This record gives sequence, C-alpha cells and structure tokens, in this order.
Amino acid sequence: SAKSTGRGRFAFFDPVMDDALRLRREIEADLRAALQESGEIVPYYQPIHAAAGHTITGFEALLRWRHPALGWISPDLFIPIAEEAGLIEMMGERVLREACTAAVNWPNRTIAVNASGPELANPGYAERVAAILRVTGLPPQRLEIEITETAANGQIGTAAENLASLRAMGVRIAIDDFGTGFSSLARLQQLRVDRVKIDRSFIHGFGDQDSDEVIVRAIIELAHARGLRVTAEGVETLEQREGLARIGCDDLQGFIFSKARPAPEIDRLVEADDAPANDMPAPRGRTA
Ligand code: C2E
Ligand code: MG
Ligand code: MG
Ligand code: MG
Repeated sequence: SAKSTGRGRFAFFDPVMDDALRLRREIEADLRAALQESGEIVPYYQPIHAAAGHTITGFEALLRWRHPALGWISPDLFIPIAEEAGLIEMMGERVLREACTAAVNWPNRTIAVNASGPELANPGYAERVAAILRVTGLPPQRLEIEITETAANGQIGTAAENLASLRAMGVRIAIDDFGTGFSSLARLQQLRVDRVKIDRSFIHGFGDQDSDEVIVRAIIELAHARGLRVTAEGVETLEQREGLARIGCDDLQGFIFSKARPAPEIDRLVEADDAPANDMPAPRGRTA
C-alpha cells in the first residue's frame, strides 16, 4: 500500500502533505492493486425508463468499488485519480467488456457506458470498442457512449475521429451532465451526438424553481429540433417525473425508479419487465 512506499519516497513531503493528499496516494496505490484482481471494482447498472409508459429503455453502467478498509468509494473520487495515474484506459476497457457482455441478456435495451477524456484521446479507442462488440455479439446500435461536454468541446483531432468512427459503426453518442460545462445552448446545434442527458442540478429544482424549468424546456426543444433524444438525470420525485413527461422529455433516470444494481439483479428486473408478454393466451392446442 501507499504507506509502505511512503516512508522513503515521500518522507520529505510528510510535514506538509495534508490528509487529502495522503489519502489520494493511498487510494491510487490501492486502485492499481484492485485492478489486478477481478471483482473488487465492478459496474452496477442503473435502469433508464421511458417518460411515457415507464418501460425500461436501457441501463447506464456505473463503476462501484468496495475498498476492503475504506468501504464504498465514489467514482467521482476514484475516476479522476485513475485518469491521472494512467489507469483509466484499462478500467474503461474492462467496464465496456463487462457491460456489453451483461447487456446481451437484456434484449431491446441500450447499454450506456461512460468514456473519459483520456480514453477518447487515444487513437485506438474506436477500434477497441469495435473489438468488444465483435467478441460479445452486442449489436452496435444498443451501445451508447456517454461523453462530457468538455470532451465534446474538444471534438477535434483524435477524439473527433473516434466519435465519428463509433457513429459510423452504429454506436450512439450521448452528452452527459449537459448544462454544467462551458457549452452554451447554441452548442447543441453543432454537436454531432444522438442524445443529451440533462444534468441533475437542473432536475433538482424542476417544478419549484421556474428558471430551471425554462432551461430544461429549452434544452428539450432544441434537442428535438435536431432529432436528438433527451434523458433527464437525477429524477427523484413524482412531481419531477410527471412534469418532465409533460414537457416531452424522452427518458428518465433517477432514484425514483432505481439506483444502480448488480448485473444479476438486472437480469431478474428485465425478466419482470418483459412479464406482460407471458400473460398472452397460450397458442391453440397447448395447455399451461
Ligand atoms: P454520471 O455519468 O453523470 O452518472 C450519474 C450519476 O448520478 C451516478 O453517480 C448515479 O448513481 C447518480 N444518480 C442517479 N440517479 C440519481 C438521483 O436520482 N439522485 C442523485 N442524487 N444521484 C443520482 P455515480 O455512480 O456516483 O457516478 C458518478 C460519476 O462517476 C458518473 O456521473 C461518471 O461521470 C463517473 N463514472 C462512473 N462510472 C464510470 C465509468 O465506468 N467510467 C467513467 N469514465 N466514469 C464513470
Ligand atoms: Mg453518465
Ligand atoms: Mg451524468
Ligand atoms: Mg455526473
């Protein structure tokens, strides 16, 4: 662990190294070790529902890490560390492979996987995605790659080439956390993506703060004018769920439906979601 290496290498910094930095170094070392194991860092899957009718249209893969000593560590904490430590590509490839493998069992649903800036900047990224689709047999149309506005703004050079290759093979691209980056609404006109996910900070105040509702309406209107679909993130209340459906948001994701859950639970959820088909009358001449 970081403690054993810290003595010699970081002794000079010890007096000024604050707890946050110390923790960060320890997490980086443990992250490296955890990635050598299988099963300590795994994707969970959060259902995404149609705003009208509430059937499950897809899932988002979200990494979960249960640290043996520290307990659950948020991806908001360990993803940036993985990026800086050069571990994100290995991690991202593993999530993608696991998510595509799991999603083969979830017919007609999309599987959304987050990609971070350094992954997109790698010239081999699109080809690696293609290889995983081939091996798992998941149709490209069922895979959605979520990128942030910042990554989208840098849609130049390698990242742009990767995104174009992915779209050419049928993979969908979504802009994640829309509204939090430096993009303006006008940027929506230029982005070559298939979906916009409105950041949960705008959904939180939806309904009780007029300004947020105006912004959400504007995003939906602009996105639809360009043929993009819209997902609202962080839907927690009935009021949000119904209000978003009323103003034409396509899909909803949030704790009002479900948090992210492990793959075997999703297998059962998909079976239950499909259950109405089993209620159809049995074919003639057959019983039970
Ligand atoms: P994100 O991609 O925007 O994912 C949505 C986050 O919102 C998830 O947090 C999810 O658990 C949370 N969320 C969903 N519904 C609700 C709700 O109703 N209320 C609230 N308060 N939160 C809700 P999570 O799982 O902690 O992930 C945080 C971020 O870490 C993700 O944000 C994403 O940027 C990053 N991340 C997670 N997994 C991966 C991964 O495999 N690769 C990469 N590159 N980033 C990942
Ligand atoms: Mg996401
Ligand atoms: Mg998001
Ligand atoms: Mg986020």
